[in-house]
This record gives sequence, structure tokens and C-alpha cells, in this order.
Amino acid sequence: MPTQPMKIYNNLTRSKEEFRPITAGKVSFYSCGPTTYDYLHVGNGMALVVGDMIHRVLNTLGYDVTFVRNFTDVDDKIIQRAKELKCDALTHSRRFTEECIKDMDSLGMLPATHTPRVSETIAEIIKMVERLLENEAAYQAGGEVLFSVKSFNDYGKLSKKVLDELEHGARVAVEDHKRDPADFVLWKPSTDDQIGWESPWGRGRPGWHIECSAMAAKFLGESIDLHHGGIDLMFPHHENEIAQSEAAHGKSFANYWCHNEFLSFGSDKMSKSLGNVITIREFCDKFGGEILRQILLSTHYRSRIEWSDQTTERALRDVERIHRFVVMFDAAKERNLSLEGGGQNLQELVSVVPKIKQELANDFNVVAALSHFFSMIRLLNREFLDEQGDYSQKRPLCSEMVLAVEAVISLVTDATGLIHPNPQEVLARVNLARKELSATDQNVEGALDAAAIEQLLVDRKTARSEKNWGQADQIRTQLDQAGVAIKDNPDGTTSWSYK
Ligand SMILES: [Zn+2]
Repeated sequence: MPTQPMKIYNNLTRSKEEFRPITAGKVSFYSCGPTTYDYLHVGNGMALVVGDMIHRVLNTLGYDVTFVRNFTDVDDKIIQRAKELKCDALTHSRRFTEECIKDMDSLGMLPATHTPRVSETIAEIIKMVERLLENEAAYQAGGEVLFSVKSFNDYGKLSKKVLDELEHGARVAVEDHKRDPADFVLWKPSTDDQIGWESPWGRGRPGWHIECSAMAAKFLGESIDLHHGGIDLMFPHHENEIAQSEAAHGKSFANYWCHNEFLSFGSDKMSKSLGNVITIREFCDKFGGEILRQILLSTHYRSRIEWSDQTTERALRDVERIHRFVVMFDAAKERNLSLEGGGQNLQELVSVVPKIKQELANDFNVVAALSHFFSMIRLLNREFLDEQGDYSQKRPLCSEMVLAVEAVISLVTDATGLIHPNPQEVLARVNLARKELSATDQNVEGALDAAAIEQLLVDRKTARSEKNWGQADQIRTQLDQAGVAIKDNPDGTTSWSYK
């Protein structure tokens, strides 16, 4: 059971509200998933990672969450692509559903409770369309079954669009068979070469919107607590989901609506080096999923993120900072533990978990939660980091402190997914990503790129082997002034990082 109140910005009322689930302590949560016709674009990662974050945060705060995220595996884009490739539509979408699941794993996403596909929900969809016809919220025309927006008084309650304005603003010619230009398809006929299922209205397939209404009802019930999706889905998709579900069941559909903003590619600041990286797969192969996840969670989910070199650099720095800390802390735990009390430092450390939880309970404010985590890292570095860059040589950590820090690490891991179980692996990927970036990007004036740093380290090693200490020190100073920290490891190698 959750131990503290939670607030969520509800787009239905355009205000931050206290979150009161239908059944105390339990949350039914639906998030609109991807259409599986190709590899996903990095921009699609935003809704996926935000949905996962909401799921994680609710779990962490003590809610018992049933989370549904669908795969749209029947869609005109899929039919079109499969036709071009001369393959079966379902075979094609199955392949890309599998690829999408691989991307989700790379992004550190937890599995949802249910991941329904349209092709497996046809019976429920047909039943719901029948019910809408019975309730006179839908009609048959031109071989299709259409939803009648005029029959639903609350149409526009989420997007705040007024039906009359929509009609006047409609630029597309009204198809003859529609009673109203805003009416939308629930079921449409399939030609023999198109994927289809038998139905009371002939062989056909569902329109897009109906699947989410049918899936939410199947796994979560007729009224659900929380619904999420990208802001681009608010109209018409979510408006139509509300109309279908409420007209079919006569009950309020979702009590809270959350929408995430976009990853923005439009500005001048768009990354030169990353501009040609289009898919999540390409990004993860090149730079690692942790870095993309860090970028996608680097602003509050209701704020737009600019895709720029700066954003990537900041994410690299944060990923490095987090994982370097975890490595050092793990090593410190193994040795020099003291049983003495921790005094004021301990009090500060113990206060971090409740502070982080409070931010998470405030409309999923991961950014503010992480700032408390980073403050804790700064405190530990200030108090315990020695000149060698190690903890505990200067002053041992006491066991109570270790427990307090472990609780914070475990909370941040569970709630954000930003701490990887193998931090050394991540640090190696961060170094590779830096090399990749500096190989394709122009140098910042005065900064050293990875290749130049590596060369200087080779020169320094040579100087040292020749006992030319003066030159070795000079190189160290040069790197230091360029903002590069180096560390000689016991095995004779030297690692480096930007300060
Ligand atoms: Zn949906």
C-alpha cells in the first residue's frame, strides 16, 4: 500500500490533482503502444520510456499496478509495407513486434502486465462494435461501421475541441457515407489480398481507435484509473477511445489522463553528429540504451526535449557520474567499514529516500528526484573521496551509512531504471560513445577529442617508460587544463574522463 499521497497532472481537467484510484492501493494503467511496421524512431522512445517510468514509479510508491501496453499489429501502414515486401502482413508485424521488444529491453524497460495485440483481440473488438450499434452510437454505411460523434454528448471533453468548429475546419472532403465529418471508422472491409476476419458486417478489420477501448476493457475493466500516451495521440485517438468506451459501457472510461511531450528535432540546435541516427536500434548499437533513456528522462515528461549535442553530452555526463559513483561505492563497501556512528552525514543520507519519494509522488518528477540523488553523490564525494579517486581511504563509511546509501540506490534503480546492474559495462560504453561523438562531431574550441587524448596518454606512457618525468608531468598538466581527468590503474592502464 502506498504510504504517501500522490499528485498527477490530469489532462482531462488540465490541473494537478490528488490521485485517488478506484480501489485504494491498486492502479489500472493503460498506455498506447507502438505500431509495428518498421524499426522505431528515437522519437517513439519517449512514450515508451515515460510509460515505463510511470509504471515503475507507481510500483515503487507501493501501488499494485496492472499495466497494459498494446502492440498495433494490424494497421494500414503494416498492410502497405508488407505488400511492398511481398510478404504476409501478420508475419511482417510479428517480426517488428519482436524487434520492438528488443529495443524496449535495450531501453531498460520492465515488462508490462499484459501486452495485447490487435490480431489476438478481434473477438472483443467485434463484441464492442456490436454493442455500439445496439446503443445507437454507431451505424453502418458504405460497407463500414462508423462511430457517430453526434450521438456522444461529451465528445471533445479531453481535447477541449468543439464539434462544430471541427466540422467547419474540416479540410478533407466529407466522404459521402459519413453522417458527420468527424465520424470515425470502427470496422472496415478488407479486400481478398488484405488481412481480415469474418464479422457480422462481412470480412474486414478494425479501425485504429477501437483496439485500445477493447483491450482496456478486456484486461482492466470498463473504468480505469490512468491512461497515458504521447501528446500527439490526444486528438483524435484518445478522444475517440473515450467516446467508444463510454458509449459502449455507460461509465466514465479513464479517470486520469497523462500525456508526454515530444522529443523535438526541429530547432537549429539539432545535433550534427546524431542527426542521421534515426532508429532506437541504431542509437543503442552505437551509444547504448542507458544514454537514450537518460536523454528521454532528462526533462519532466510534460516538457519538450530538444535533441542536441548538448543534451547528449549532458546525458553522457550524468550516466557516467551515476555509474562511476556506484562502482566506487561498491568497492568502498568491501573494505574499511567502520562501526562508528555517522553523525550529521548519516542524518543527511537517511533523509534522501523520503525526499526522492516526495518528488516522484509529485506528478512523477524524476528530474527533481535525481537532483537529490546527485546531491547525495556530491556529499559523499566531498566527505569521503580521496585524492586517488577512491572512497574510504580518507575516512571509512560506517555500516549505517552504507545501508542508507544502498536504500537510495535501490530506490533510484527501481523508480527510474537509470542504474544498470553492470556499471563497468556502462562506463565502457560511455567511453566508446565519446569516441564516436568526437569522431563525427567538430571539436569544441580548445577541447581535446578522444583520439587526441588517447594519443597524449600513449606519449605520456612512452615518456614514463623512458623515465622522462618532466615530459610525463607536462602531458598530465595539459590534459588537466583541457578538463580531462586521468587515473593510473594498478594494472598499468590509464583511464580518463572529462571533468
Ligand atoms: Zn490507444
